[in-house]
Amino acid sequence: MASPALFLVSTPIGNLSDMTRRAVDVIRGADVVFAEDTRRTGVLLRHYGIEARLISAHEHNEAARAELVVELLGEGKRVAMVSDAGTPLLSDPGARVVRSALEAGYDVVPVPGPSALLAALVASGIGADRFTFYGFLPRKGGPREEVLGEIATSRHTAVIYESPQRLGALLGDLARAAGADRRVAVARELTKMHEEIVRLTLQEAAEAFREREVRGEIVVVVEGGVETRADPEDPAPRVMAEALLAQNVAPSAVAKQLRESLKISRNDAYDLVQRLAGEADGRSGAAAEQLGAPDPT
Ligand code: SAM
Repeated sequence: MASPALFLVSTPIGNLSDMTRRAVDVIRGADVVFAEDTRRTGVLLRHYGIEARLISAHEHNEAARAELVVELLGEGKRVAMVSDAGTPLLSDPGARVVRSALEAGYDVVPVPGPSALLAALVASGIGADRFTFYGFLPRKGGPREEVLGEIATSRHTAVIYESPQRLGALLGDLARAAGADRRVAVARELTKMHEEIVRLTLQEAAEAFREREVRGEIVVVVEGGVETRADPEDPAPRVMAEALLAQNVAPSAVAKQLRESLKISRNDAYDLVQRLAGEADGRSGAAAEQLGAPDPT
């Protein structure tokens, strides 16, 4: 008998031909297949003539399923796990099952394949060398604003999942937070008959999708921000930093505020705040302890 292992199998995100041969072989050879929706996975498996023992594993029963998976692995079984579409764990269940299997000392084996995240990113025309995957953004309030602020100031390309009903609002929020001219790609219905990838600025996209009725599945890819070197002649960063430090705002928060409001680099913000806080304290280097080293990203 082959040794027990948990296989994370990617499945198509629309086009059934995107199932890899290895994915078919692994599922066929598995003793048990955990699926987010057994009916939906049943359709896929029938398409490939695979008979499998399917058990549901979704966000509401994942803790119990994690225990069952470990139990089955303990019996020497080969266990496969799939989500409704694409790669498990990417805005899909599975993290808990993986953790439990690893903690119990079993192998976790990826069987790579489709993912809307990578398909949208590579076809977006926007830099793919450094990116952050956000999945679905928080729907409202402070948590949403915080993530929008992070996307606005990060140099990484941002990849976001969104529903068609909320696409217009998302693009409007992104244009407000990250600026009208930032490039964006809206990738819809990837690998399906009505696949469409629209490449515009955030402002153009917000206008284009504000009124348009949109259907299907969507990934939004947003260009990273460009941080500028602080102009040594410009008094604004110093004035703002001094005012905030005088109000006892923590040095790390002051540096963050400078980066976000004045779009200066992490290093410039860090250096300035460190210097000013050191001067104010009369003991240079004190702020460095509070700030820590700047994050290189
Ligand atoms: N695990 C999946 C993956 O690897 O891409 C994603 C699952 S997540 C619950 C579903 C979201 O992924 C959709 O709301 C949409 O944002 C995106 N998505 C999935 N399939 C897509 C497709 N064919 N075209 C565009 N976006 C897609």
